Amino acid sequence: MSHPTPPHTTPAAHPAAADLAKSSNFLRQIIESDLEKGTYAGRRWAGSPGDAAHHAAGQPDPARIRTRFPPEPNGYLHVGHAKSICLNFGLARDYGGVCHMRFDDTNPEKEDTEYVNTILDAVQWLGFDWQANGQSHLFQASDYFDFMHRAAVCLIEAGHAYVDEQTPEQMRQNRGDFGKPGVASAYRNRSPADNLARFAEMRNGQHEDGTMVLRAKIDMGSPNINMRDPAIYRIRRATHHNTGDAWCIYPMYTFAHPIEDALEQITHSICTLEFEDQRPFYDWLMQRLIEGGLLADPPPRQYEFARLNLTYVITSKRRLAALVHENRVNGWDDPRMPTIVGLRRRGYTPAALQAFAERIGVTKSDSWIDYSTLEGCLREDLDVSAPRAMAVLDPIKLVLTNWDELMGAGTQDACSAPVHPHHPELGKRQFSIGKEVWIERSDYEETPPKGFFRLFPGNKVRLKYGHVIECTGAIKNEAGSTIAIGARVLKDTKSGTPGSDSVKVKGVITWVGAADAVVAEVRLYDRLFLDAQPDAGGKDYLESLNPNSLKVVTAIVEPSLAQAQADDKFQFERHGYFVADRHDHAPGKPVFNLAVGLKDGWGK
Ligand code: ATP
Ligand code: MG
Repeated sequence: MSHPTPPHTTPAAHPAAADLAKSSNFLRQIIESDLEKGTYAGRRWAGSPGDAAHHAAGQPDPARIRTRFPPEPNGYLHVGHAKSICLNFGLARDYGGVCHMRFDDTNPEKEDTEYVNTILDAVQWLGFDWQANGQSHLFQASDYFDFMHRAAVCLIEAGHAYVDEQTPEQMRQNRGDFGKPGVASAYRNRSPADNLARFAEMRNGQHEDGTMVLRAKIDMGSPNINMRDPAIYRIRRATHHNTGDAWCIYPMYTFAHPIEDALEQITHSICTLEFEDQRPFYDWLMQRLIEGGLLADPPPRQYEFARLNLTYVITSKRRLAALVHENRVNGWDDPRMPTIVGLRRRGYTPAALQAFAERIGVTKSDSWIDYSTLEGCLREDLDVSAPRAMAVLDPIKLVLTNWDELMGAGTQDACSAPVHPHHPELGKRQFSIGKEVWIERSDYEETPPKGFFRLFPGNKVRLKYGHVIECTGAIKNEAGSTIAIGARVLKDTKSGTPGSDSVKVKGVITWVGAADAVVAEVRLYDRLFLDAQPDAGGKDYLESLNPNSLKVVTAIVEPSLAQAQADDKFQFERHGYFVADRHDHAPGKPVFNLAVGLKDGWGK
């Protein structure tokens, strides 16, 4: 870069974010109350996940709380995951705890190691780390398959689980519904010995996929359908990316997840609201496995918060994948995508996403967050940190017809501007003005509308950081089309020179001198959907795709930008915040993406 970057701002350094960081929420209250009561004070931690005996032999837990971020490695993380990451890692950081990074990879069909690295990269980029107390807390749930199997056997032995041979259709019918209690399976009262034998057959591959499941034996009359003997193990011949073909039975998510939490000594297991109805089973399972001596007491507790819904954005992994696979966007990291890789390429910063997570807070009821809240967080961060530059996005030449006469033929006059208006220590950008400069086409009007203060015949404006000029009108070719704008320079009006403000003008315009202009590709992004809730209520989100979500222009930018490195962010004065594209930008071939516009449109 041609100029030093301002000190990187963390959300805590930001006044607004600092206030918000202190704001409480129901999860903080729960944690504070647990810490006060010493709910987990007697816990031990053996240095790695494990059962009750393993942890009992360990040290008092150095972590005051343990949270976890447990993605399935089946896609790219998005802005909703960013909320969950900031929440879980942020709570651990704030309360002297540890947040575990866990791959919830118990489903062999959907997952792939391809996603593992991008997920780890996203979490680290957001500013978080699973390294704590001298060890790594990076875990994968598939490492617990042996224990999960043992837990299933333990339930069977205690009469809390049975092998059901009903067809999936029968099971569905007999589960009942909201107004109708379930009907017990004919296999429900098998003896533990019989169930153990059947479960062993399942595990040994003696039965076809889908012919049997292991079910928890709870209450077929429960008003909570999740408690009507949920399936906990199924037969599925599928190669798992971690365990290969070692297993032909796999635990169901509702069974696996609580166990993962317990083995890792999680204290506060935070998930989205749709899991609220699973909580009774979570607690039931914990109690049964504590009774069986397998898990340490007290167990983790599950708490639910409202997932992030962001207007103009879809966050379903499946639908995001469809956008990529149907070439509606240019890959997972297309700057219009709400994926973390997309946001990053768009110019989002970790500080902006952390501030966003803090600002939206956590609640117990679903709501929609306006997209402008996200944009506002980026704007606030970049306003403080981004160097300024001038760029002309829709260029037309301005010819200063009296330049040679006034300044001397061929003269280039050196101009400068602060790198950042509030950081004089960052120094100045240098550029020059001569007979020809580039200006925005829309800065000239032959017949100005009311209130238009920029260029029109006879009007005076200041070229920002340069001179005052008086417009003489359009310069046209023989066919009558405008090929340039003409103007005269006013003597002794250069910014920063004595008496330069003797001529008062209402308009100031940005420009780039033709002699040191740098040509750049600029990608002007807009929201991907025109509908604020593109996929709500079963709507076809493809119908509201914005056909103008990307416009590519050839822009003229000031010479300081020739040194920009990929990922560098700038405020293009009047236009907004831009980032040098992390894929396509190269020295000599600059490419900038619009990250977010300025809050206030340019004055008239
Ligand atoms: P899937 O449909 O594949 O289960 P998912 O969005 O639930 O998708 P996970 O990988 O299971 O993806 O999510 C990891 C974590 O991120 C979970 O704890 C989940 O609660 C959280 N999470 C996912 N989407 C959001 C969201 N929109 N807002 C807040 N948290 C979210
Ligand atoms: Mg999920």
